[in-house]
Amino acid sequence: MTASPSAIAPGDLSPAEFERHTAALAGWIASYLRDGERHPVLAQVTPGAVRATLPGAAPREAEPMDAILADLDRIVMPGVTHWNHPGFLAYFANTASVPGILAELVTAALNQVGILWRTSPALAELEQVTTGWLRDAMGLPSDWFGMITDTASVSTLQALAAAREMDPALEIRHRGMAGRPELPRLRLYCSAHAHSSVDKAAITLGIGAENVVRIATDAEHRMRADLLQSAIGADRAAGFRPLAVIATIGTTSTTSVDPVPAIAAICRREGLWLHVDAAYGGAMALLPEARALFAGVEDADSLVMNPHKWLFTPMDCSVLWTRHPGVLKRTFSLTPAYLETDEQEIALSLSDYSFQLGRRFRALKLWFVMRAFGTDGLSERIRHHCALARTFADWVQATPAWEVHAPVPMSVVCFRHRPEALTDEAALERHNAGILERVNTSGRVFLSHTKLGARYVLRVAVGNLRTQEAHLAEAWRLLREAAATNAVTH
Ligand SMILES: *Cc1c(COP(=O)(O)O)cnc(C)c1O
Repeated sequence: MTASPSAIAPGDLSPAEFERHTAALAGWIASYLRDGERHPVLAQVTPGAVRATLPGAAPREAEPMDAILADLDRIVMPGVTHWNHPGFLAYFANTASVPGILAELVTAALNQVGILWRTSPALAELEQVTTGWLRDAMGLPSDWFGMITDTASVSTLQALAAAREMDPALEIRHRGMAGRPELPRLRLYCSAHAHSSVDKAAITLGIGAENVVRIATDAEHRMRADLLQSAIGADRAAGFRPLAVIATIGTTSTTSVDPVPAIAAICRREGLWLHVDAAYGGAMALLPEARALFAGVEDADSLVMNPHKWLFTPMDCSVLWTRHPGVLKRTFSLTPAYLETDEQEIALSLSDYSFQLGRRFRALKLWFVMRAFGTDGLSERIRHHCALARTFADWVQATPAWEVHAPVPMSVVCFRHRPEALTDEAALERHNAGILERVNTSGRVFLSHTKLGARYVLRVAVGNLRTQEAHLAEAWRLLREAAATNAVTH
């Protein structure tokens, strides 16, 4: 007797099983969100420890979901650094909010592949609508075209690819850049504090890392527009072809803001593409009282901001806007016969505007987040984080031997301990690095550091929805304790 084909068909686990396991997982996630502080915020494992608990090969025999889920606690959790922990104050703190987590579940279930409009009309249209909502809430020009990518690195890469296509006479899309003696070397300009994703874009696009010109900054870590102007002039005289300027609103080290109006005026005069990197700082544009930080952005050619940073959307979600969708399309549109459809001109296929063909339904989580909090709710939360950061800066400022090292326009504080006995930078670096190490091994909070010129400084970034003043107070107590202990052992 032979089994019927349906009896042997190796299909998926059943919907009934899905229901049972999601019920259990929902409880597991809720308890994580309720009581995440029971975990040390910074993973306490040594390199290789996670790998050592795993078999060397995939199981040949199917394993029950119960066993797999049980290993979340046994294997995964010890190796997790908890970005969703309220004590996470390192880098740029972020949040996977409840509406965002719910949307990710639906995104996986629907498994949309946004190649063409018709392969997911909801994805294509929701992406246009949500990036439009966000653009308007941020006060950006209402005719800008927006789309979602995975990261700011990719958004910036695509913006600079479009900048390279702005002047069709360069013929780079068709002919490439190599072996063309008539093609001058292209140059990009950004401040000394710009994100390394600019260099990576230059490397990827074949512009070359040495053609990223880093412009010096003023005492508050902002690009000096006068030096930008002279660098462009010197490059033109030397036969280079200046292509684009990347201005940052909210630099990674200190959240400093480049003088966009002056930079935009230079770009207009010189015919350069202006890309604004507001990956983190962009969220501040939701606050009417912070709009001054965004002066001049209306003259930009493109702008990136990451909802996955300070807009409570789970990793990953970056939004790129440009005033030149036609140039973006000229850069990336390439339709093989099997993807040609009649709708092309009426309904947008986002693959025409980006390097990638398939895309995830990332707009769904942005839509859930924007609706579940409302733009007022989002602003309120961002405002609260800025207030917490200022409170922390006040504590530091008011304490002898502690110093704040940069203005606090957003939610990041750069500071350090400077005991009288220590005078040279190397000793101060060792001292503060020691404090950081002690504080981070506590497992209660997680801070990072940066370098401002020769100065090594500590950094607190407030950006998680569950961070409250008590967490900053705990960080401050641990810092002072570590400074005192450190001093004894010098
Ligand atoms: C975080 C950040 C980036 C990189 O973001 P990814 O999304 O991780 O690529 C770029 N620029 C600035 C200013 C940032 O803060």
